Amino acid sequence: MNKGILVVVSGFSGAGKGTLMKRLMEKYDNYALSVSATTRAPREGEAHGREYFFQTQEEFEKMIDHDELVEYARYVDHYYGTPKAYVEEQLEAGKDVILEIEIQGAHKVKRKFPDTVLLFVTPPSAEELRNRLEGRGTEPPEVIKSRLRRANEEAEGMNSYDYLVINDDLEECVDTVHSIIQSEHYRPGRNQQFLNQIQQELKVFMKS
Ligand code: 5GP
Repeated sequence: MNKGILVVVSGFSGAGKGTLMKRLMEKYDNYALSVSATTRAPREGEAHGREYFFQTQEEFEKMIDHDELVEYARYVDHYYGTPKAYVEEQLEAGKDVILEIEIQGAHKVKRKFPDTVLLFVTPPSAEELRNRLEGRGTEPPEVIKSRLRRANEEAEGMNSYDYLVINDDLEECVDTVHSIIQSEHYRPGRNQQFLNQIQQELKVFMKS
């Protein structure tokens, strides 16, 4: 069995990544969504171990010291990081593992594991992004402002992603993300064992 594919999904805060990932998990098998650790406070409705592992700064820094994270970054005053053990275990089990992380983390993962697929999700327009952030009602106005400023910075890095997906219609977007990831399985480099085997087998015909 081939190992699973590591997929990073990034996008501006308010791009609808959370909903998109939730729907992807419901609709298709074979994905494992990594749960990150963070020092930010839980939002209403968020549960420890489901949306995030909510940690103190001290606990988080201990994970860094013990090399327990695939990557970590700071985002608007807080730490966010990907615990290593779960990712490794799920990839070994053949699952495609999704990391929903911001752009600095995405680049760190790509440098460490160059065959990672980087996918960027964006709303159809900047206006729509602001509407979604304000409509969510989970952040005070100054945090929304910081997140919109951060979106402006992040937009610079969109070009270095492998795929850009516009999240207009949720179902359509889920299916697009699924088909991109599935197509990745057919790259020759991800099927090296089969490739070697059939090349070897074909050599037999040279002898007759
Ligand atoms: P939020 O506070 O809205 O849940 O997340 C803020 C940003 O942090 C989002 O862009 C989200 O994708 C990113 N993020 C979540 N988990 C991680 C992580 O483990 N590592 C990194 N680098 N970013 C993360």
